[in-house]
Amino acid sequence: MYLYNSATHKKEEFKTHTPGHVEMYTCGPTVYHFAHIGNLRSYIMEDVLEKYLRYAGYDVNRVMNITDVGHLVSDADEGEDKMLKGARREHKTVMEIAQFYTDAFFSDCEKLHIKRPDVVQPATGCIPEYIRIIEGLMEKGYAYFAGGNVYFDSSKLDRYYIFNDHDEEDLAVGVREGVEEDTNKRNKNDFVLWFTKSKFEDQALKWDSPWGVGYPGWHIECSGISLKYNGEYLDLHCGGVDNAFPHHTNEIAQSESYIGHPWCTHWFHVHHLNTASGKMSKSKGEFLTVSLLEEKGYDPMAYRFFCLQSHYRKALVFSWENLDNAYGAYKKLIARIAALKPEDGAVDEAVVKAHHDKFVQQVGNDLNTSMAVTALYDALKEKTNDATRLAILADHDAVLSLGLLEHAAAKRAEDAKAKTAETADGFTVTGEGDAAIDALVLQRLEAKKARDFATADRIRDELKAQGVEVTDIKGGAIWKRVTA
Ligand SMILES: [Zn+2]
Repeated sequence: MYLYNSATHKKEEFKTHTPGHVEMYTCGPTVYHFAHIGNLRSYIMEDVLEKYLRYAGYDVNRVMNITDVGHLVSDADEGEDKMLKGARREHKTVMEIAQFYTDAFFSDCEKLHIKRPDVVQPATGCIPEYIRIIEGLMEKGYAYFAGGNVYFDSSKLDRYYIFNDHDEEDLAVGVREGVEEDTNKRNKNDFVLWFTKSKFEDQALKWDSPWGVGYPGWHIECSGISLKYNGEYLDLHCGGVDNAFPHHTNEIAQSESYIGHPWCTHWFHVHHLNTASGKMSKSKGEFLTVSLLEEKGYDPMAYRFFCLQSHYRKALVFSWENLDNAYGAYKKLIARIAALKPEDGAVDEAVVKAHHDKFVQQVGNDLNTSMAVTALYDALKEKTNDATRLAILADHDAVLSLGLLEHAAAKRAEDAKAKTAETADGFTVTGEGDAAIDALVLQRLEAKKARDFATADRIRDELKAQGVEVTDIKGGAIWKRVTA
């Protein structure tokens, strides 16, 4: 596989420390609120990446943290704890908030067919690990104690790594409006490893440490959790592009200083989901969640399909119109798959393999998911029998997880339920099992028979307005619902 590496700024052949095995880490959610669909875009693309690696023959160990402590309002360690803010907003305890939004996150993931990582670790479960790393950093002179907190000393590094793609925008974090400068810091890029009570009296969760009772900084949790479950050689680290700086930069600084050798070889960053007015965020405009999409009548698969149509390294613009287009295309695709007959012929394994190999190659070019979607249409167009076409689609869906065969089977069952209605005149109407529509279609047939074309046309327009398309056949009519 060839994958763009944000650490080297180029597309590279993906290599792992242990051949055939991938140690993969993903920055998980901060569970103080629902995830918006912009956050979920990252998890969808990372899910496709993980499934692709497995599909291409790798064995994968994927680890994810759940941030339930230490993530302050600003990524640069300033302001109050997001968890505390959520607890106050909802008059609950921090642990109740964490549990509720962790469950909500995984429920969204399930709806979007995002697989649960092999290891999911809440940050509060690894405090001794963070303390051990911070102690190690203190011993080696990479950290210092000032004003009640332990800081990482960024000046001790030969190179404090900045992901160049984003540096202009990201470096502005330190000078964000309303952010007070922390006078304990020796250097602008220093960051907190451990906070003590001297700074935040009302922090709900605190632990004892060699530096006093307190709690860990946000960045240390990912290093601690990854070193614990992935080991010292990480092949692939994933996250949204806004995590690149300062979060990932700081992860690299503390991990490599602690272990004393290079840590992660490959960095995968998914770009933003934007709205017409800019980057999507929780604080601005409509708060778009999976539940909101469902309330508005969208299958969550419409959103997954929408995300797969574009490349993860390009900002994606969300609008209801764009989502409608994706949903329309998805439903048409399902209808085409539903029209295939599973009993048509025997699966031609050679044809399936040819498509599989081509898919490995195409998608392996920097996770080209739009090409992967195109491959589904290629499968439908393949000159073979339906059983083989279905086998190819099932093969590709192991990576894409669009529920293609399940949705097509459901549609087939629904179509089979379509009922037939008759009039006294002997007309038969075949539709999708809606008596009110059947009645209108029959009325139209009666009107036509009586040569009352004005009424017949009026009814046809009325049906069309309801999204129903009527086709006259000998002795009756067939109707179906169509998407615009
Ligand atoms: Zn992280």
